[in-house]
Amino acid sequence: MPDLLTPAARSAHVARIRRADTKPEWIVRRLLHAAGYRYRLQWKAAPGRPDVAFPGRRKAILVHGCFWHHHEGCRIATMPKTRTDFWKAKFDRNRPRDARDLARAEEAGWEVLVVWECETKNPVEVSRRLVEFVGPVSVGRGKSA
Ligand SMILES: [Zn+2]
Repeated sequence: MPDLLTPAARSAHVARIRRADTKPEWIVRRLLHAAGYRYRLQWKAAPGRPDVAFPGRRKAILVHGCFWHHHEGCRIATMPKTRTDFWKAKFDRNRPRDARDLARAEEAGWEVLVVWECETKNPVEVSRRLVEFVGPVSVGRGKSA
């Protein structure tokens, strides 16, 4: 299959994707796992299909990339210099959608914790918040926990 991107463009593209979304979610998952939790990914029964869900506790965690979700006041949430109108429109759509997903989940009785990408730079602090939010790891709760 022909590759349409130059090597430099491709590595920039890959780096951007990793930085924006994949990595923070992996950090959160790794911290949860290390703390001994079992969780579900992209749980469909919860509104907005949260990244991480604890169906037995009705708790969900959303991991937001600061760029894509345009974290307000965050230095990662830059406005691209090219195609600025496109990006602005995209961010203007993403933010209300995030707020709507959050409201729908809470209305359905879910507690939701939002973890921002920039916050995952401090794993100790994020881990503390995660444990505080999810609650004690209970033994014998089974797969639903
Ligand atoms: Zn941020």
